Amino acid sequence: MAQFLDAKAAQPDALLFFRMGDFYELFFEDAEVAAGALGLALTKRGKHLGEDIAMAGVPAHAMEGYLARLIRQGHRVAICDQTEDPAEAKKRGSKAVVRREIVRVVTPGTLTEDSLLDARGANRLVAVTLRSGRAAVAAVELSSGRVETAVCDVGDLASTLVSFAPSEILVPDRLFGDADLDQALATADAPVQPLAQALAEPRAAAERVARLYGVATLDAFGAFEPVEISALGLIAAYLETTQVGAVPVLSPPRRSAEGQHLAIDPATRLSLEIDRTQRGERAGSLLDTLDRTVTAGGARALAERLARPGRDPDRINRALDAVAWLVEHRALSGEVRDLLKGSSDTARALTRLVLGRGGPRDLAAIQAGTRIAQELTALFARRSDRLDPDLPHDLERALAALTPDAALQALLAELDEGLVEDPPHLARDGGLVRAGHRPELDQARTLRDDSRRVIAELEARAVADSGIPFKVRHNAVLGYFLEVTAKQAEPLMQRGAESPFIHRQTLANQVRFTTVELSDLDARITQAGHRVTAMEVETFEDWRGRVRELAAPVQALADALGWLDATAALAEWAEEVGAVRPEVDDGLELCIEGGRHPVVEAAVRAEGKPYTPNDCRLDGAGAGGCPRLALVTGPNMAGKSTFLRQAALLVVLAQSGAFVPARAMRLGVVDRLFSRVGAGDDLARGRSTFMTEMVETAAILNQATDRSFVVLDEIGRGTATYDGLAIAWAVTEALHEANRCRALFATHYHELAQLEGRLDHLANLSLRAREWNGDLVFLHEAVAGPADRSYGVQVAKLAGVPTGVVARARAVLDQLETTGEADSRLDDLPLFAMAEPPAPAPPVAPPAMVEALAELEPDDLTPREALEALYRLKALS
Ligand code: ADP
Repeated sequence: MAQFLDAKAAQPDALLFFRMGDFYELFFEDAEVAAGALGLALTKRGKHLGEDIAMAGVPAHAMEGYLARLIRQGHRVAICDQTEDPAEAKKRGSKAVVRREIVRVVTPGTLTEDSLLDARGANRLVAVTLRSGRAAVAAVELSSGRVETAVCDVGDLASTLVSFAPSEILVPDRLFGDADLDQALATADAPVQPLAQALAEPRAAAERVARLYGVATLDAFGAFEPVEISALGLIAAYLETTQVGAVPVLSPPRRSAEGQHLAIDPATRLSLEIDRTQRGERAGSLLDTLDRTVTAGGARALAERLARPGRDPDRINRALDAVAWLVEHRALSGEVRDLLKGSSDTARALTRLVLGRGGPRDLAAIQAGTRIAQELTALFARRSDRLDPDLPHDLERALAALTPDAALQALLAELDEGLVEDPPHLARDGGLVRAGHRPELDQARTLRDDSRRVIAELEARAVADSGIPFKVRHNAVLGYFLEVTAKQAEPLMQRGAESPFIHRQTLANQVRFTTVELSDLDARITQAGHRVTAMEVETFEDWRGRVRELAAPVQALADALGWLDATAALAEWAEEVGAVRPEVDDGLELCIEGGRHPVVEAAVRAEGKPYTPNDCRLDGAGAGGCPRLALVTGPNMAGKSTFLRQAALLVVLAQSGAFVPARAMRLGVVDRLFSRVGAGDDLARGRSTFMTEMVETAAILNQATDRSFVVLDEIGRGTATYDGLAIAWAVTEALHEANRCRALFATHYHELAQLEGRLDHLANLSLRAREWNGDLVFLHEAVAGPADRSYGVQVAKLAGVPTGVVARARAVLDQLETTGEADSRLDDLPLFAMAEPPAPAPPVAPPAMVEALAELEPDDLTPREALEALYRLKALS
């Protein structure tokens, strides 16, 4: 108990998994929490300060599954293992307790087990610090060893943080309450771990980071601002406590320069459904629609590419060169993909081995990855003389990383020769080293296995000599023994001292014996078995040490495999959907010919319908008479939102170095992308639709530059018509005159169409619909000029509004359109209520409900309380 309390004191915030033999036990409150979270039986064991000690346990072999559930529910778990052989402890005295130590603290951001991780998504531990108006984010991904930092203005913290897709966020405790930070944390949607402010103090932080990298000073890594060092320091401190001495292999911190990536704020990311839909699902997102990767590492590389598109035309074009080359060399690209299918998750296997957690299967993953890398380079070498001699730069670089150096080749050769196919999960399970690899291991195995054969002979001899049907059996306590039924044993039991069969144990139905020869043999087998295991573990450790030394090239190789998979997958998708290479430069054009929305197109086609391609021509410089800003009108359901999102998604794709579903696209790189399309109520944060819309519009007006691209849907619709129109009008003018960004602005206010005459760089566009025999047909086609009318009444009819209501609406509309106002003549029109059967009387609410309703103060409720109130009311109805 003293040992337990010590360990618990070291990790008070974590549930402590305390190893006792074959179980991990939890005590006190931890036991109660875990029992609740995992549905374990809560028991008692002993007393502490006169009280019963609550206890719950999980079997050690099934621990990963339980861990996964706890981590997913937001708990942290400290693993306290037995760190010496119980036999050793006995030598210290009969009362000695086996030594136990915390070997690791498992947290969402530091997971390495495949069973606990999403194979297709990165798992990043991120730290945030603030200092005089600037914010720094540092991120580490243990599976790739990649360490990155970013510094930005505090106002941009939310978008920077979200672009890292954190799994866990570290924050100095004193910063809580800072409005920008709190807002950023709320949007990031990951568990937050407060750390002591002292850990973020720059000097101490610098020392800790240097220690993590094993260097004397950080100068070699380049200049970092103090606020970045603080963030890195938090990461270093957290790794020290959670990994308890096991040091991951990390690449030097790389700063993502401000302005290196296309900035996409959280609201835009959500609205565009880049890697998940607004409902939080991967299915139906852009990433899901175009993901043709064949490995987990490739899927992660692709997700990364879409999460942070570039901004530098040269880099983007280099990425596009590689995709284009693979599109051109389709057959080769197919072979590449086929080869890649045979690799397992090399990056994550490497991390586990380096952190001392991996097993023989991880070695096999490294072996497979390295072999596939070799085959890939050979494939390119064989083909390249027949293909263009000049490979694109990025492809060349990946192939260089895939070419194993001599040391790695030597290791591969040794693994090929020494590691069995399909090795066991754990080294101590044995059977991982091939016969012939280590002569002394083979000898020990022969001894062990020969002795087994001798035992079989011994059994036969014992039966022949005694005429008793002995069976040789084995268990952990007795080792090998001879077993007979109690009845058969009777004659033996009477023979006494002269019998060669020595009695060991009597059970209800069986009696067990041994002989001098058998116990001798037993000892030899056990010894040989121990030696075999020891040698296998030693061999494994030797290999693991070698992998550790080669971590940097193996990491580079794993990265290159992921990159190649992602790039070949983009080429494959481009072929499949007929996407083309966008022309990307540093101009200000945004011209899409025959563009298609990749996700909507897939959905529309799945229903067997055609998708109508659309053009979109904008130019920030106003060249060729192209507008900078287009006002998009058209009836509901005509395809306005789709058109807007399509343009934004094609920008994301192009700047990610992907082909775009269009006939052609020319793009002057965009620095910031804003999309406000179909914003829902942000009730969780207590804002109405209108308020959300205005907050987001404010952000755009404050941040969009002449290099930005903005798509806005129906600003102002959440308020009275004139208010809304006035706001939409002013926003359009501001975007046009002050921000001067490229923009698509969808609106219901047909009055805005007049702006075309007043603003030089604004044009009207509309999505066409046509009336056909009184029904509305959507053509989904974007044409110049404003929509002639809004067809609201026809859409209402399509939606199944009762015919009487539709007829009445049509009459009111006619009147409004001819006279500009509703006057007394409307009274002469037949009222729909007369044409319809009388409406049934409204149901009367039960008195308890009326009372409960009267007690509610909507303005004083948090969203959660409101929801609870709703449930209560529902129960009363
Ligand atoms: P709006 O924003 O004008 O109300 P949406 O953009 O939501 O309309 O489009 C409504 C539906 O029309 C979409 O869900 C899609 O099924 C279909 N649609 C939109 N654009 C196209 C297109 N270009 N080709 C074919 N179908 C389209």
